[in-house]
Amino acid sequence: SKHRKIAVVGARNVGKSSLTVQYVESHFVESYYPTIENQFTKQVVLGKTNYTLEICDTAGQDEFSLVNTKSLIGLKGVAIVYSCVNRASFEIVELIRDKIIDQLGLEHIPTVVVANKIDLREELGDGGDSVAAVTRLEGAALAKRLNAGFVECSAKLNVGVNDVVLQLLKRIEGHDLTG
Ligand code: GDP
Ligand code: MG
Repeated sequence: SKHRKIAVVGARNVGKSSLTVQYVESHFVESYYPTIENQFTKQVVLGKTNYTLEICDTAGQDEFSLVNTKSLIGLKGVAIVYSCVNRASFEIVELIRDKIIDQLGLEHIPTVVVANKIDLREELGDGGDSVAAVTRLEGAALAKRLNAGFVECSAKLNVGVNDVVLQLLKRIEGHDLTG
């Protein structure tokens, strides 16, 4: 099988660990050590190819320690997560992307922008105080501008979680067909 390394990045508290654990272990963790960086592996099939994914669940303390140098080695793609009920986390997505390509010394890395916690946005409703909420349209527009994929999901309800990885893997393979 082919080995592909990906990282889950984003602001604190957006659900990076919850998403990763939901994807790898199929359950929702209410709370996870926020400062611990974890590596997971998972087998996934895309087309006729078996992949061994190495998933780095990052734990950045600030926007300048998003991915430590060791975690960057061999990185093929990133899922940049924000919380759709935390506008600040949305507003730093582009900065995070820029920082990563800068650290890698690349012009581009296959990327999927991930809007997590959509279960909470629905709770806010239309009439609620949704000033902070980030709409699907806003998320999709940002992803388009960054030449990235876009997935809305809920780690809590396990909605859209598998799609994050599938979209990212497709993008990686589109950019790196040499194996
Ligand atoms: P991280 O710092 O980005 O790794 O965030 P965590 O995965 O630790 O999650 C932060 C908090 O958000 C925790 O209390 C999670 O239970 C919660 N959380 C994560 N994903 C979701 C989600 O999809 N919906 C809801 N309602 N809460 C979530
Ligand atoms: Mg975490």
